[in-house]
Amino acid sequence: MEFHDLKAQYLALKTDIDQGIADVIGKGHFILGEQVTQLEEELAKDAQRKHCVSCANGTDALVLLMMLWGIGAGDAVFVPNFTYFASAVCAATVGASVIPVDIDPATFNICPDALEAAIERTISVGVLRPRVIIAVDLFGQPANYARIDQIAKKYELLVLEDAAQGYGGSIHGKQACAFGDGAITSFFPAKPLGCYGDGGAIFVDSDEEDALLRSLRSNGRGITDKYDNQRFGMNSRLDTMQAAILLPKLHALRQYELDALDAAAARYTKALSGDVIVPTVLSGYRSSWAQYSILLKDAPQRNAAQAYLKQQGIPTMIYYPRGIHQQTAFIDQHFSDAHYPNTLSVCERVLALPMHPYLTEQDSACVSNTLLDFLRR
Ligand SMILES: *Cc1c(COP(=O)(O)O)cnc(C)c1O
Repeated sequence: MEFHDLKAQYLALKTDIDQGIADVIGKGHFILGEQVTQLEEELAKDAQRKHCVSCANGTDALVLLMMLWGIGAGDAVFVPNFTYFASAVCAATVGASVIPVDIDPATFNICPDALEAAIERTISVGVLRPRVIIAVDLFGQPANYARIDQIAKKYELLVLEDAAQGYGGSIHGKQACAFGDGAITSFFPAKPLGCYGDGGAIFVDSDEEDALLRSLRSNGRGITDKYDNQRFGMNSRLDTMQAAILLPKLHALRQYELDALDAAAARYTKALSGDVIVPTVLSGYRSSWAQYSILLKDAPQRNAAQAYLKQQGIPTMIYYPRGIHQQTAFIDQHFSDAHYPNTLSVCERVLALPMHPYLTEQDSACVSNTLLDFLRR
């Protein structure tokens, strides 16, 4: 059994993907070819945002927004403590300070109360200027933007939606990548919308931000005269080949993959609730199920469950084994465990089960039955 079955998806979409790749090779426009423009237009429409600018990966997308907003030394950037490291590293890359914030253990997303407390603490210390909240749509479920936006307004902060794992999710029909002052996603192969290599995209509202991002992703090239470089950017573009692969995948995500993911998640939830803590999707929210993550009792039980499943040929993953505040790269910051009780508990208990749109009923039943066998031994 595969944890994330990309081969099954390829077989379902083979004709369109193969044709797309052949078209790109035939035309020879490997960099910023017409499929890149088409994808950007379709993504902007699909995510209900005015502009989409593609780039080389999700990490660059985060850094490009930091550059666009002029974030740097002396600025505080608030980031959920339980996320992939890139959500935090983007702030450090531009010289800003990362302030990890504890999570809500029910949704795994940033806790609004802990966020407000962290902002207040930063203001009272008086060294850093609070500037940005990075809210992550972890495991596919959008963060609580109603509360986050209120807090951002109160303290005059920018909101960045990190939807690297969240493409396809929504809140009351408002799509992921439509939240915050700017949003990003990643096309890393295992994300809900993945390509066959690295890729990413940025979503913004204004024509001016769109033009600046296009300059920043091409080494800061001039907007009117391309050989007069007006700012320092980076070289970060999405390959035309990847755009051609993403187009049929985007259509499949909308046509049936999201429904298939919901169905697979519902099967797990029905089989497992009561025996383990199953994921909570808030009312009105839709997850794109980048992961189906359960919570076990404690670290020994989680580790034994993982070993037992592995023995039975079932792959699982631990996302994430430690908080941002425990990463060696931040050792000099001396972040205190005392602010992160939920992160610490979840890191010890979380386990992600095999999850993808092509997971068969037979396979999901095998996963849940094996896990139940383990728990009832
Ligand atoms: C994957 C991921 C990123 C980075 O995306 P890459 O394309 O791998 O650079 C950023 N944030 C989160 C939450 C992610 O899961």
